[in-house]
Amino acid sequence: MDIPTLMNAMVFERAGEPLVYNKLPVPRPAANQVLIKIIACGICRTDLHVVDGELTRPKLPLVPGHEIIGKVVGRGSDVNSIIINDIVGVPWLGYTCGKCKFCLAGKENLCDNPGFTGYTIDGGYAEYTVADARFCFLLDEQHSSANSAPLLCAGLIGFRSYKMINPTAKNIGLYGFGAAAHILIQLAIAQGKTIFSFTKDGDIAGQSFAEKLGSAWVGGSSDSPPVKLDAAIIFAPAGELIPAALRNLDKGGQVICGGIYMSQIPAFSYDLLWGERSVQSVANLTRADGVDFFDILKTAHVETQTEFFKLHQANDALNLLRSGKIKGAAVLVME
Ligand SMILES: [Zn+2]
Ligand SMILES: [Zn+2]
Repeated sequence: MDIPTLMNAMVFERAGEPLVYNKLPVPRPAANQVLIKIIACGICRTDLHVVDGELTRPKLPLVPGHEIIGKVVGRGSDVNSIIINDIVGVPWLGYTCGKCKFCLAGKENLCDNPGFTGYTIDGGYAEYTVADARFCFLLDEQHSSANSAPLLCAGLIGFRSYKMINPTAKNIGLYGFGAAAHILIQLAIAQGKTIFSFTKDGDIAGQSFAEKLGSAWVGGSSDSPPVKLDAAIIFAPAGELIPAALRNLDKGGQVICGGIYMSQIPAFSYDLLWGERSVQSVANLTRADGVDFFDILKTAHVETQTEFFKLHQANDALNLLRSGKIKGAAVLVME
């Protein structure tokens, strides 16, 4: 196929300013990279933290976006695992060094010298991108359309957060019912879990969405569910949710924080942590998480709810996400 020399992209130049719709050269794949014609790129809350300047070390200028689905249209000389026309997914974890103590211990999500797609490496708010082939996921036909883009981060991070929970946990709270929670709830219910969903206080639309997807109970973040929770996963970036979730936790229960950024956590009494309750963050993902996740999706029925936007509408989509007006996940669809 003919590959143009220029492409359209939404470019992040300065925190607090809208992305700029611009022409950029189509990147060329290095030896270990594939060139991807992007089909769709999901919009993740992390993208908001980048454009709002809460994550302070982006590459500049930057093409954001780390929930990429696209078709391989070129590849470097060292790439064997992926061929032209394969459909691949490109996640947040874009590179790891393979040499640091974390990589050597199988914890590449904690790598000392990582590269992150759409943050320190150009991502998917564009018509083309290059990605290290070793960090791409080969997608089957079932997961090769724009609807599956949110699986690449919202889905994966939700899944990794869920894996942190003791498998015997039955009653699980989800704080923040957005892209990640709406995917995870489907998996968790299929595995016999009972889900209690918390939205912003008074977010009736969010609560009815959570109810529709099978929550046993829905409420605002300052409400208490009718039973004590065995675990709670926090997807919303609000530090005050940690003591709020601990308050609803049974002995031995876990609070898992799935987001990359959170506002300040208010001081709380040790009583809330007592009884072997714990608080843990989830950082990034490993390639093994992705393989496990897409394996489970072959049999589990998970449907994403998506709102599609064109590439040049990325700023509008980000604004809607910021104001909590996206039900499910926002996705940029190319051409
Ligand atoms: Zn490393
Ligand atoms: Zn993300």
